[in-house]
Order: sequence, then C-alpha cells, then structure tokens
Amino acid sequence: MALDGNSRTGRVIWDQPFPFHSYHWGLLWRGQRAATPPSVQYRQGAGVESVRGFADRAEVRLATGAVEDFDLVIGADGYRSVVREAVCPGARPSYAGYVCWRGSYPADRLAELGTPPDGGADWPVTDAVTIGIPGGSCVLYRIPGPTGPMVNWVFYATPPETGLRLDDPTSFPPGGVTGELADHLARLTQRWFPPYWAEVIGLTPPEHTFLQPIYDLRTERTVADRLLLGGDAASVVRPHNTSGAAKALQDATAFEAAWRQADSWDGLLAAYQAARGATGQELVALARRLGLAQAERTPDWSAMTEPAMAAWWQQQLDGAADIGGQAMAATRDTTADVTPG
Ligand SMILES: Cc1cc2nc3c(=O)[nH]c(=O)nc-3n(C[C@H](O)[C@H](O)[C@H](O)COP(=O)(O)OP(=O)(O)OC[C@H]3O[C@@H](n4cnc5c(N)ncnc54)[C@H](O)[C@@H]3O)c2cc1C
Repeated sequence: MALDGNSRTGRVIWDQPFPFHSYHWGLLWRGQRAATPPSVQYRQGAGVESVRGFADRAEVRLATGAVEDFDLVIGADGYRSVVREAVCPGARPSYAGYVCWRGSYPADRLAELGTPPDGGADWPVTDAVTIGIPGGSCVLYRIPGPTGPMVNWVFYATPPETGLRLDDPTSFPPGGVTGELADHLARLTQRWFPPYWAEVIGLTPPEHTFLQPIYDLRTERTVADRLLLGGDAASVVRPHNTSGAAKALQDATAFEAAWRQADSWDGLLAAYQAARGATGQELVALARRLGLAQAERTPDWSAMTEPAMAAWWQQQLDGAADIGGQAMAATRDTTADVTPG
C-alpha cells in the first residue's frame, strides 16, 4: 500500500497471501509455565550475574553472590544474555541505523474513523497491511489483547537527530516517545501515509507508543565448554523476519533431539552446534536483506507494480526456503528422561 493522491486509503500495490496467527505473549508464557513439570525447580526473580564454563562443569554466580555448579548451563537469557558473554566474549549487538516505532490499542476504536469515504474497503481482520514510504515501511495487523482484538503496528524509519545515544541495546518504554520523537512520527505519517492509515496510527495513545532501536548480532558459535546458547541469547535478529519466538522454540526442540541422541556431554554440545550454529547467522542475514529493502533503501513505491513487487520480494528472500530450518514437532517421550554420561 502506498500514498496515492486521490485515495484516502492509498493504492494497493500488491495483494499477497499472508496466512498468519497472532498469539498473546502473556497467554503463551502462562501456558508454557503451566506445562513445566513440578520436578523442575523454577526460581522466579533469581538474577544471574555471570557464568563460567569448564571442561566438565559450569558455574553460575547469582546476584545474591551465591555460586552454584551445574553439569550444563543453557543460556536462554535473551538479547542482553550474560551467558553469551562467556561463550562469545565481547560480542555486542550493533545498531542498524534505524528504529521502529510501535503502538497498539483496542481495535473497536477503529469505528471512530468511520468507513473510508472513497469506497475503499474496511480493514478486514485477517489482513496485515504494509505501507511503503521513502526510507521506511509500516506493518499494521490485529493481535489478541486482554479484552479483545487490538490494532498493532510496527513502523521502521530513520529517527530524527535528537542526540539520543542508540549504540547500546535499549528501548524507550511506552510513554517514552515524546517531544521530537513523537513530532517526527506524526510528521512522517501525515506526509507519507494515505490519510486513513495516518489516522489509524494517530489513534494510538502516547502511553502505548514506544520506540525500539534496531540491532543485530551474528555470533560465531552457540556452545563453549559446558555452556550453550538458545533463542535471542544465541543471535539477535532484526525484527523484520518475525522469527524470534519460532527460532527460540526451534532451538529448544533441536536441543531435545540432540539430548536424546547423545551419549556424552561433548556429543550433545557438538550435535546442537551442528544443528543450530548456522541458523542464527542465516536469520541475521535474511533480516539484513529485508531491512535494506524495507527501511534503508526502499524502492520508489509510486513506480512499483505487482510483478515488480513480486520480483523485489524474491530478491530479499534469496533462496531462504523457510525460517529457522528446524521442524517443531518434537516427540514427547518422558521415558527418555536420562542424563548423557
Ligand atoms: C516489542 C517486541 C515485539 C516482538 N514481537 C515479536 C513477534 O511478533 N514475533 C516474534 O517471533 N518475535 C517477536 N519479538 C522477539 C521475541 O520476543 C524474542 O525473539 C523471543 O522472546 C526470544 O526468546 P528467548 O527465550 O530467547 O528470550 P526472552 O523471551 O527475552 O527471555 C529471556 C528470559 O531470560 C531472563 N533473563 C535475562 N537475563 C537474565 C539474568 N541475568 N538472570 C536471570 N534471568 C535473566 C529474562 O527475564 C527473560 O525471562 C518481539 C520482541 C519485542 C521486544
């Protein structure tokens, strides 16, 4: 979708099948937490300060100062991972040069905008809409919320010159997008979005608008000594792929498969590295191609046709057959609950 002088809703450049399903993060987390067997000791709020790997054990230092020994430490501690520091010392996410503004609000508020007067269709619940602007793009879709469907949007663009330091992974919490950041967002949407979609963004309350600087990190390995990395700890991928949650789950199922087959700790670590070592790197590369095409060097949307869009899209995928390269249908066999020797 892009700005078109005569239309309130813009010009549809390409209508692409987009079968997708959104999950509520909190419900997903609660489901996983409920499925955790009672035999697992789950210590909520126990911060880990650092870890050290050795040939035959791993050491965890807690924020309380306590130090504990384990056979293996799996670092699934997200994009600021402290386990990563022990596996890949000095590896830091680097800033991509652009940000995304994000926002959400209850979808029933769309009624405030009325039906688009130019006969453009209402926004079907199942449609994700992408708006292309010079130097950016914005994806809008519905997500499940606590009391009903929500509008959610993610808008990639270059931030204004505000003197903000963006070289350290951080984000601005909801309500933190004020002053020049908020004005810049409004200027971009009013100048480049078809009016209806600028109004959709404009309905977002300031306390539900936030900014996420875009980072990524390509690590050289996922294991060292008795340490192993999974999910965002192993690699930080720009959000364009929307692959972060699936990749974390795939890492978990790959770990399970390696665990079942391995007859030693070394065998387990080598099998996991073989299965997942390249995946993070491939996902980082894919997201960089998507970011380049959709945020850094966007095409002239006004000149794009449907065949040109299809070719542009294929160029970004560059042979990527799927996301993450790991089936998620792990078998559940509780009898195999044994420790590698
Ligand atoms: C705003 C936003 C929107 C996103 N939307 C999507 C999306 O639509 N689809 C998608 O696939 N992905 C999305 N992602 C990315 C996705 O959330 C991550 O890729 C995914 O959560 C990674 O899972 P993880 O288990 O590796 O890490 P996390 O989910 O980050 O979990 C890490 C856990 O480790 C804990 N932890 C961290 N450090 C320590 C420590 N020192 N001691 C103890 N505990 C620690 C944290 O508290 C946390 O519970 C989004 C991310 C953001 C920020």
